[in-house]
Amino acid sequence: MDIACRRDTICAIATPIGIGGIGILKISGADALRILRTLFVTRTGKPRSSFPSHRLCHGWIRDPKTLEPVDEVLASYMAAPRTYTGEDVVEINCHSGYAVLNRMLEIVVSQGARVAEPGEFTQRAFLSGRLDLSQAEAVADIIHSRSQEALKQAGRHLRGDFGREVSRWREHLMELEAQVEAHLDFAEDLSEEGDPALAGLLSRVETQVIPALERIVSHYEEGRVLREGLSMVLVGKPNVGKSSLLNALVGRDRAIVTAMEGTTRDVVEDSFWVAGVEVRVLDTAGIRQKPDAIESMGIERTLRSVDEADLVLWILDHSRPLTEDDDRIHERISGKRVLVVLNKMDRCGPTTAQAARTRYGLEGDVVELCALRPEDAQRLKKILQDRVLKEALLSAESTFAVNRRQRDCLARALEALQRACALPDPEAWPELVSEELRAARKELDAILGLEADEELLDRIFSRFCIGK
Ligand code: GDP
Repeated sequence: MDIACRRDTICAIATPIGIGGIGILKISGADALRILRTLFVTRTGKPRSSFPSHRLCHGWIRDPKTLEPVDEVLASYMAAPRTYTGEDVVEINCHSGYAVLNRMLEIVVSQGARVAEPGEFTQRAFLSGRLDLSQAEAVADIIHSRSQEALKQAGRHLRGDFGREVSRWREHLMELEAQVEAHLDFAEDLSEEGDPALAGLLSRVETQVIPALERIVSHYEEGRVLREGLSMVLVGKPNVGKSSLLNALVGRDRAIVTAMEGTTRDVVEDSFWVAGVEVRVLDTAGIRQKPDAIESMGIERTLRSVDEADLVLWILDHSRPLTEDDDRIHERISGKRVLVVLNKMDRCGPTTAQAARTRYGLEGDVVELCALRPEDAQRLKKILQDRVLKEALLSAESTFAVNRRQRDCLARALEALQRACALPDPEAWPELVSEELRAARKELDAILGLEADEELLDRIFSRFCIGK
């Protein structure tokens, strides 16, 4: 997106295009009011000379060439700078339908507006200083939120809570930078041991800034789960009840359940909600030796899903003995976060929780259940909430859930500050201290978008939908 041409007037359909009650067309830029004046007529077909700011006006949009009315609308003009973009904005609420919305857009474009790129309205809000970059990113997060918790977090970011916190750290570092610089200026007057005040300054960084950054960086994974949902893969040898459990968890017949081995050959995905967090669950081909060619491809995909998942639900079968196939799965999932389920507890069988614990040296609990009983699926969801999602839900209350870009910036800032504090003799190296403080502060600048280049902005705003 070319920032240089940001002063032209842009327009977009802001609602999903389809049949519905209301569709909204947005216009932003210096020509917005002129375009509205040209197109809008009152109920009696007269042009309207004045549009008070931030007020709805009832009337019609007509085709300026044929003068034919196109649709009955409620239009609002919002004068800069108290608008979303910081520019003059017009919103036209018309009826929603493919023809009417596209016609409206055509007419507005015929008056000189350009169709906006994805995220261009929010980009303008950022460029006009109405939002910092962390707030602009929160707009996309709100739109893409897949859990109530993620929505709550994105709301905090949009209100500026995170941006304000980052600004506070930034000011703190700038103050320190200035003080270190001042010491540098008087370096010649210092004794050979250097300046003892510098150690005091650094200890403030150590106690006030570093712990806050550490907390956010270390809770990134929990925050990510809230933002993106938890991905959980069901693994186990054929016929242990993976598909039955998937169906029980999502509450409908999503995967085929048969007594024949090797029927699930591809990865089947669905989702359910636990404590406001989306859990995406993948049912996979059962892993066993000597599969046929198609089944082998399914097993390949299973192994890939295991690598990518946040949690592996490893299912064992109470009604059959543990075999080498179970051993191979155990090997394959080592290093992953695993919850072990012993299924088919309604039947008699040789495999007990204790047998599994002993054979595989399991430390955590083995969840015993029957996938055919709905109440057991509910119990498993509660266990997921208490054992797996609890940390994420708790951390959401005590810290900020940041996105990957913000996490990377914070991690680099943290490293720079830790390097400064780890200098064995910081007083002797004030230049190094100053450099690290500056490096950390620049990372905080990047979170707020204070020195964002065009490429970064393009990358961020291209995540948005058109009309936002
Ligand atoms: P998958 O191959 O691991 O996906 O296993 P399926 O879900 O297809 O189940 C294989 C067979 O075991 C089917 O006949 C299911 O009805 C049966 N099954 C699954 N879970 C249970 C259970 O908890 N108890 C009993 N008795 N049968 C089960």
